Amino acid sequence: MPPLQVLEGRSCGSCTLCCKVMKIAEIDKPPGRWCADCRPGAGCAIYPQRPAECRDFTCAFLTNPDLGEDWRPDRAKLVVTLEGDGRMVAVHVDASQPDGWRRRPFLDKIKQWARLAERDDRLVLVRIGHRALVVFPDSEFDLGPMEEGDRIGARRRMTHAGPRREAFRIPRDEPI
Ligand code: SF4
Ligand code: SF4
Repeated sequence: MPPLQVLEGRSCGSCTLCCKVMKIAEIDKPPGRWCADCRPGAGCAIYPQRPAECRDFTCAFLTNPDLGEDWRPDRAKLVVTLEGDGRMVAVHVDASQPDGWRRRPFLDKIKQWARLAERDDRLVLVRIGHRALVVFPDSEFDLGPMEEGDRIGARRRMTHAGPRREAFRIPRDEPI
């Protein structure tokens, strides 16, 4: 994918939340815990030598005009990214406020994304540390803690109210 363009007037400023919520494989940093090299609110202590994953990272607040100032990550305590070649919207939640994504205006927007995702079988995820939830327009599936290499699957199931999507965790050793 081409690199995402940062919107005019947007910058990280004093935000460092991705250094807490994101997993950084290169330095074995788990999601949901501050990186040892982060100076929260100030920046990266090893900025010139930071891993390529950090160098290449741009959150959706910086690039997507659909996300207003409410979504500034250090204020919202949420970092929005795209995963799986853009087929999944992921909302990474600061574990200090695990239900923060349910506040307005965030939940309304997340549900709006979930409705759009229904059309072409994309998914909207909420990630809180290792835990993942899949959000559909009228339901949620809490997949619990995800292990390294686990994947997320979804299927349609016929119910008395019509077809409904449901999500499930695919353990890393299980063939799809
Ligand atoms: S979460 Fe986004 S705005 Fe905040 S530091 Fe990371 S890239 Fe910058
Ligand atoms: S290495 Fe630097 S940029 Fe990367 S997560 Fe740690 S503090 Fe953040």
